[in-house]
Amino acid sequence: MKIIMLGAPGAGKGTQAKMIAEKYGIAHVSTGDIFRMNIKEGTALGKEAKTYMDQGLLVPDELTVRILLDRVAREDCANGYVLDGFPRTIPQAQVLDQALAEMDDAIDYAINVDVPDENIIGRMTGRRACVTCGATYHIVHIPPKQEGICDACGKELVLRDDDREETVSKRLSVYHEQTQLLIDFYTAKGILRTIDGTEKMQDVFTNIVTILGE
Ligand code: AMP
Repeated sequence: MKIIMLGAPGAGKGTQAKMIAEKYGIAHVSTGDIFRMNIKEGTALGKEAKTYMDQGLLVPDELTVRILLDRVAREDCANGYVLDGFPRTIPQAQVLDQALAEMDDAIDYAINVDVPDENIIGRMTGRRACVTCGATYHIVHIPPKQEGICDACGKELVLRDDDREETVSKRLSVYHEQTQLLIDFYTAKGILRTIDGTEKMQDVFTNIVTILGE
């Protein structure tokens, strides 16, 4: 099974993608996580990606597509995958489509997690991420057991640079200008399913499972 998660930054698609990956035994592939890992490790790719990410801009298609195609060619993706944060532009979607078509394959579902803009800002600026393991929390909705400390590894939680309010506003306008077009792209293919992302995390997941099947 191959799934794409669509939705504004902060719509909760990362959380849902992880739950989907676990339930269906498929890989969770997040281009944002790949970039952040490279930034942490100080690679050339990380340095380049950071200049865009810190401004709320998209990393160029050419670089992003190369990284994604490399990632989905790995062994753990053989059984399928859920893409979280990719594609974000029509050219990215076209390259992915073409690469899959060459293997007689295709995406099964594009799940659009719908959340209005006014809910997004509060969600994202309240987000906290672990500097060490990358686990994410929310100061109101998913608080860690101890304030500022990661439940999973005990290290410090921070507000990511790209979750700051000014960056979030920029990311939202980039989403509306570039990524929202993908809703029409996947609607035309007949594989788009839209779910209400303002519901509780577990209810959103139940609705996704109804679409994907038990
Ligand atoms: P995310 O964690 O998915 O919200 O991604 C964080 C940031 O990484 C985005 O704001 C972009 O700067 C960059 N990024 C992640 N995925 C992509 C993509 N598919 N295309 C371009 N930039 C991306």
